[in-house]
Amino acid sequence: MFVFDAHVDTLSRLLASNETLDKNRGHVNLDFLRQNKKSGGAQVFAAFVSPMFYHGKALHQTMAMLDLFWQWMETFPDDLAFAGTGREIRTISQQGKIACLLGIEGGEALQGSLANLRMFYRLGVRLLTLTWNHRNDLASGAPEGESGGGLSLFGQEVVREMNRLGMLVDVSHLNDESFWDVVEISQDPIIASHSNSRTLCNHPRNLTDEQVRAIAAGGGVIGVNFCPHFLAQGRQATIHDVVEQIEYLARIGGVECVGLGSDFDGIGQTPLGLANYSKTQELAVILQERGHSEGDVAKIMGVNFQRLCERVLG
Ligand SMILES: [Zn+2]
Repeated sequence: MFVFDAHVDTLSRLLASNETLDKNRGHVNLDFLRQNKKSGGAQVFAAFVSPMFYHGKALHQTMAMLDLFWQWMETFPDDLAFAGTGREIRTISQQGKIACLLGIEGGEALQGSLANLRMFYRLGVRLLTLTWNHRNDLASGAPEGESGGGLSLFGQEVVREMNRLGMLVDVSHLNDESFWDVVEISQDPIIASHSNSRTLCNHPRNLTDEQVRAIAAGGGVIGVNFCPHFLAQGRQATIHDVVEQIEYLARIGGVECVGLGSDFDGIGQTPLGLANYSKTQELAVILQERGHSEGDVAKIMGVNFQRLCERVLG
């Protein structure tokens, strides 16, 4: 089945470890991606800006990850191809390749400049997660709590410019104040590329029911995160917790708002039954066993994000 995964951290992992994509010992590698060639696949590679680069080196570090992404496109042209629009995702999948999208996780990469945002767009970036865990020039991350405040004036400008360019505004990691500011300002549907339900697992990184409804009402999509801490507390998380998240989000926001955002290569541990990217298709099997229609399962596994990309990216 066509799989669209809205968030993996393979770029930052491999830049740090010097391993290559075909030999990645983490969660995502070329062989695993190839398994989806027949059924089609789209993958957002997030350039995660680590806090050690925040002060002066965020742009520099981000450029190194974008370069790595483009090196992969050149090195593995039979398997991978860059996708900048929804239409390109469709064409590339039909050609039996994995459509690769480029995102940035952490607005620190902009270093306070809308010009950098526009240049990132020209380099292929189609998604920006406004913050990681800290307050930055744009907004506040979840651990900052209420005192962190919402979107800054610059953050508002960034959201408007992203709307104008046709980029996906990603609210994963935001604190609640920033989340609601984005909902108010964005003219386009928004995404939470890798977030779960806070009702099922009470963690500030997860979304309240009201937030789920707001994303869904705007036509946005939530990528369910496989990070064990955001799935279960005080016990081992399993693939069934991911299934429960999917079913709950569909119940609250409707099946159209649910997708996948594994966070592979960004998480230290994985749920039982979801050890790496090659296991993602198991979710489709379990969902079908639990009586969900093939159409609904297809939406969750990838069609919802595909639809959103066609609407927002063109
Ligand atoms: Zn993240």
